[in-house]
Order: sequence, then C-alpha cells, then structure tokens
Amino acid sequence: MAQDRLVCRECHRVVDPDANTCPSCGSSSLSEDWAGLVIITHPEKSEVAEGMEVTEPGSYALKVR
Ligand SMILES: [Zn+2]
Repeated sequence: MAQDRLVCRECHRVVDPDANTCPSCGSSSLSEDWAGLVIITHPEKSEVAEGMEVTEPGSYALKVR
C-alpha cells in the first residue's frame, strides 16, 4: 500500500504530502513511515483518542517511526 501521506511525529495527525508543518500542532517533524490509520470523529467519546491524547477530530496514525 502506498503511503502518500505524512504523519506528524508529535501528535500523530495525518497531513497532506505537500505539507511542511503539521496544521494541528505546528511541528515540522513529519514522517512517511507510519502504520494504522484511525479516523477519530468524536475524540471525547473515543478510548483510542484518549490513549493517543487526541482532542481534535481527524485522521491519525497509530504508529509513527
Ligand atoms: Zn502535529
């Protein structure tokens, strides 16, 4: 599977491949090497979101290297 998107190493947010910084936390530490896409629509109701310390709805990766 092609990983055409990048993931922020700080908050695990999935960002556009042409992004230079994470729109969520502003970090420029983006990785192409990630796995486990999760889409969080209601972070306040999600145990996954709680474990990942996610507070904003969006697409996130479970693992980032
Ligand atoms: Zn981020």
